[in-house]
Amino acid sequence: MALDTTSAQGAMTGTRFIKSLQDGRQVWLDGEEVKDVTVHPAFTGMVHELARIYDLQHTDEYRDQMTFVSPETGNSCSVSWLLPRSEEDLKKKRRNSEIWNEQSWGQLGRSPDVMAPYIIMLYNMRDAIGAIKNPHCDFGENVVNYYRYCTENDLFLTHALGDPQVDRSEQPQNEQRAVLEEEVALHVVEETSEGIIVNGAKQLATAAPISNETYVSLSATFVRRADPRFVLSFSIPTDSPGLKALCREPVSQREGSFGHPLGARYDEQDAMLFFDNVLVPWDRVFMLYDAAPLLQRLGGGINFLGWANLCRIHERMKLMTAVATMIAEAIGVIEYREVAAKLGEMITNVEVWHHAMDGVEHNAFMTDGGLMSLGSMSGMNIFFSQTSARMVQLLREIAGSGMVMQPSERDLANPEFRRYLDRYMRGKGVDVEYKSRLFRLAHDLAASSFGMRQEIYEYWHGGDPNRNRINLLRAYDQSEITGRIKELISKPLA
Ligand SMILES: Cc1cc2nc3c(=O)[nH]c(=O)nc-3n(C[C@H](O)[C@H](O)[C@H](O)COP(=O)(O)OP(=O)(O)OC[C@H]3O[C@@H](n4cnc5c(N)ncnc54)[C@H](O)[C@@H]3O)c2cc1C
Repeated sequence: MALDTTSAQGAMTGTRFIKSLQDGRQVWLDGEEVKDVTVHPAFTGMVHELARIYDLQHTDEYRDQMTFVSPETGNSCSVSWLLPRSEEDLKKKRRNSEIWNEQSWGQLGRSPDVMAPYIIMLYNMRDAIGAIKNPHCDFGENVVNYYRYCTENDLFLTHALGDPQVDRSEQPQNEQRAVLEEEVALHVVEETSEGIIVNGAKQLATAAPISNETYVSLSATFVRRADPRFVLSFSIPTDSPGLKALCREPVSQREGSFGHPLGARYDEQDAMLFFDNVLVPWDRVFMLYDAAPLLQRLGGGINFLGWANLCRIHERMKLMTAVATMIAEAIGVIEYREVAAKLGEMITNVEVWHHAMDGVEHNAFMTDGGLMSLGSMSGMNIFFSQTSARMVQLLREIAGSGMVMQPSERDLANPEFRRYLDRYMRGKGVDVEYKSRLFRLAHDLAASSFGMRQEIYEYWHGGDPNRNRINLLRAYDQSEITGRIKELISKPLA
């Protein structure tokens, strides 16, 4: 049985994670196939960081905060997979997400903690998902079994939602759409007794080359399809025959961990996924030919996807603010009114975000599916896509040219040069080495290829911010205030 859990070992360990990536996966980078992602320099920093954090789940310090005992198997499982049935459970999940993000400095858009809530959300919708009938399987049962499989094995998942960026002028209502989709978008080409055979591509999936599985579905942009063969949702192991991942240029710069303290550890990679007649077994299919359950979710406002992203954003903003403050101190500009005001603006963003997190926790509610959801997060993804760019800009403005002009590790080690560096490149009360390391951290947040990739991620990861703004407007009920305004302007002044 493919989704058998009898030999599952619960919360992942670092060693098990690394071993799980040494399979038959087809990963391509810069024109060459990567035979083993766990030893290739483009991936090792990230793989070993994840392994390190996975191992924390088994330490005395973190075990109670990061794991729970599975009622079904007695395995100790990751809190990322805990089904939240009470406010207490939500608090426990928040703390677990905080730990993942503190440990990774808010740099991971796709930590293992991110995708677990997606699958929990599907679990919570099992009845609606199961209401779509198929002669080969029960989609509702598939979702429940898949949730258990992921939980008991603590799998690292990513997701792939969008179509390849080939021709966005073709709109769903356009009759030509099906023809374009035939060429590029993922679709069913055949049904067999074992499962569906799918063809096409997805742009894109963060961390796919180092994940165990990819959850494949449709984003809000692509959910309305002219042709039912393009309506599908499933999960697929990364080593499935016919599935190929093409990586982007690495931003890890492993050779320079002094100069790239974040990039060297947290380049999670992004990959195009090509599906060349891939078999998806029936027990891994969650939705087929009918998007009703997905449309219900997209319109339902159920926010299981919450803590991982919210805590990441909080940690990332706190990090940028603290680095900017330390830089302002290190070059003696913190007392200047303009600089202090900019730091105050950064703290404002951190604080507003923190209060919003408390707000969604305060407004948590019990769903029809029997699980607790965080309260409404409407607008929060839009707020952050615009605020992130502003935070990066403020960090750049406070750091000045030091953002780019710092000695390298080898410059510092050169005795001939060192005396110039000690004299001309030191800071206010700090030596050149401290100052250089601090500014290189800022550079990795706001200027390096790693920093730029992070910023692009923050802008797009919640979907097109403009589409989100428009959807927010359309769903936003202003009737109470517009009614009062009409009343106000309907009568002449007394
Ligand atoms: C670093 C990074 C990591 C990502 N990771 C993942 C991941 O793990 N999984 C995943 O599924 N996705 C991921 N994404 C994809 C992300 O969700 C998309 O980038 C986002 O939804 C925008 O889609 P697009 O990139 O195809 O841009 P496009 O849709 O091609 O947009 C390009 C431009 O055209 C405009 N545009 C497009 N269509 C229209 C229209 N109909 N009307 C008006 N304007 C339009 C857009 O506003 C934009 O300005 C990632 C993206 C990035 C950059």
